[in-house]
Amino acid sequence: MKNIVVQKFGGTSVRNLECMRQVLNNVRRPLANGDKVIVVLSAMAGETNRLLALAKEWSPAPDVAELDSLVSTGEQISVALFAIMAKDEGINCRSVLGFQVPIATNDSHGKARIESIDSEKLVAMLEEYDVLVVAGFQGVDDHGRITTLGRGGSDTSAVAVAAALNAQICEIYTDVPGVFTTDPNMCSEARKLDRISYDEMLEMASMGAKVLQIRSVEFAKKYNVIVHVRSTFSDEPGTLVTQEDTVMESVKVAGVAYDKDQAQVTLVGVVDEPGVCASIFTPIAEKKILVDMIVQNPSREGLTDITFTVPRADLDATLKLMEGLKSEIGFKALLSDKEVAKVSVIGVGMRNHSGVAAQAFRAMRDENINILMISTSEIKLTCLIEDKYTELAVRTLHQTFVGQHIVG
Ligand code: ADP
Ligand code: ASP
Ligand code: MG
Repeated sequence: MKNIVVQKFGGTSVRNLECMRQVLNNVRRPLANGDKVIVVLSAMAGETNRLLALAKEWSPAPDVAELDSLVSTGEQISVALFAIMAKDEGINCRSVLGFQVPIATNDSHGKARIESIDSEKLVAMLEEYDVLVVAGFQGVDDHGRITTLGRGGSDTSAVAVAAALNAQICEIYTDVPGVFTTDPNMCSEARKLDRISYDEMLEMASMGAKVLQIRSVEFAKKYNVIVHVRSTFSDEPGTLVTQEDTVMESVKVAGVAYDKDQAQVTLVGVVDEPGVCASIFTPIAEKKILVDMIVQNPSREGLTDITFTVPRADLDATLKLMEGLKSEIGFKALLSDKEVAKVSVIGVGMRNHSGVAAQAFRAMRDENINILMISTSEIKLTCLIEDKYTELAVRTLHQTFVGQHIVG
């Protein structure tokens, strides 16, 4: 069997016929080398949002399985259109939907996890075709129902396919030339990184840098797939997401990320006794809502306040759940705030270098930005702030840290 190259193209790369032709130029490169190509495509830019809005018009809480059936059509359209165009250009290709691979997932609609990919079937199809145009984002569960992998999920489809085929590299083509020190569309001083470690990219992605979906980086790390993030519209090499090396460790902060899709919830006057956190966070976890920052204040007279963050889209569900458990958990009041955002500085160099937090806090103070919550990991510092200050905070943190090499 020939070498197999996996390439993924995002929504802006397939937004119209002209862009799809540009995609085809990128596909021709490995074909000219005699390789076989798997092209994973997203829906055309804006299509997934359009379909979600349509469902919301029909129902405030659309059935999750039907919603997956609906939004997955965005990818079906782009793979079919691309295959139609590519065939006219003389390419021996066919489109393949998630269930036709199959890409098997669990039944967690809207945020399904890939469980297995039939790589033998893909390889068999590649005997017949030079290019397989695989629909990203979608899979199929045990009951034969269509599932989707969460926003940005085509990245994960592509890396998972690359892993299943033992490909060493997965190319992710997008509308920016690579992974930057921060969102280049927000901060003009952002610099493209040549390389970034899996762990840094994981933190960047989970802290809001949507250039790669988190699960795609988890797959890449687990199966040792190098991810090459690059532009659809230029031949320049992009960024390699790969194993950590000593050069990466010498840079204190690799990048700054932000996430405006956040909401804060506070349970006021919770009885401070064993099991109370379990009674709050177990039902939230059962609803598959991702809680990120959690702060519990020291208790006074046996009562404490517990504050945490959830994705903004899950706020209403979280509040409903907490209200329903009010007597069981035992709290006095429930507060929430949607106008919050997370800003994070990330770098494996933080493991060995102190003072990052203090420096970040001084930078925020100098811009008069109040910090609502703080959380840290070995390689990350995150502050929750009012969302109107996001851009200012990103710029100031970027200016403070990025490019700082350790001296001595
Ligand atoms: P695609 O449609 O190709 O999947 P996305 O919109 O999902 O593209 O991701 C690319 C976008 O990610 C860029 O346009 C950029 O605004 C944003 N982004 C956020 N943080 C970063 C970063 N650190 N480096 C590069 N892009 C970033
Ligand atoms: N079309 C899906 C989305 O908009 C998946 C993707 O683009 O990766 O989130
Ligand atoms: Mg994306």
